[in-house]
Amino acid sequence: MVSRKLAERRATLEKLFEEAGCTGESLTSQKVRSSKEPNVICTLKGNEADAGAIVVGGHFDLVDYGMGAVDDWSGAVLLPSLYQSLKSAPRKHDFVFIAFAAEETGLNGSHEYVRKLTREQRGAIRAMVNLECLGMTPPKVWASRADPSLLEAYWKVVAALKLQMFGVNVERVGDDDTHPFRDAKIPTISIHSITQETFPILHSKRDQVAAIHPEMYYDAYRVAATLLAYLDTTQ
Ligand SMILES: [Zn+2]
Repeated sequence: MVSRKLAERRATLEKLFEEAGCTGESLTSQKVRSSKEPNVICTLKGNEADAGAIVVGGHFDLVDYGMGAVDDWSGAVLLPSLYQSLKSAPRKHDFVFIAFAAEETGLNGSHEYVRKLTREQRGAIRAMVNLECLGMTPPKVWASRADPSLLEAYWKVVAALKLQMFGVNVERVGDDDTHPFRDAKIPTISIHSITQETFPILHSKRDQVAAIHPEMYYDAYRVAATLLAYLDTTQ
């Protein structure tokens, strides 16, 4: 079930992270200026101190219309599953899963996160993978904004999974949580499912669970999980 209430959405994410094994000091929240809700952050430690970190994000806030099921519960709720998939095998990098608050009001959550990083922490982030509006169509990538080497990795993963390669640039949609990371010179990539046809679903009352196709959503999960595992070996 998807709730419209921000506090319930946050509580559900925390519960899912805990159920996936992200508990104690691994699961934290970060206060966000001008937002009642914090960022929810789950950290999965890697085995190599110098390997750096890979950030995975999705936002849990929504606009006043619809259920915000696609935009962006679909991305945020995938984070605990991705945590679980990565946890099962040893990894080099730290993985930081962030359910961002207040994206729709001006990327406040992601801005806050990047702003609070020390210079050293910024330099240690090898990639930021953003999950935005998944499952309306097969997985797509915002190719024009993606870091070239992350985009190359993405295409390799899509080919290996025998999925069709779709690059759809969504400048029309405006912006997403990769923006503050790109400004900080951190390589980013956004996975989504937005097309000309599905774009009108966003920020409308049609943004419901029914707009998400389970098999396409599952493909988005497979792409994201495989990409993260792949980046752990290459970044
Ligand atoms: Zn969004």
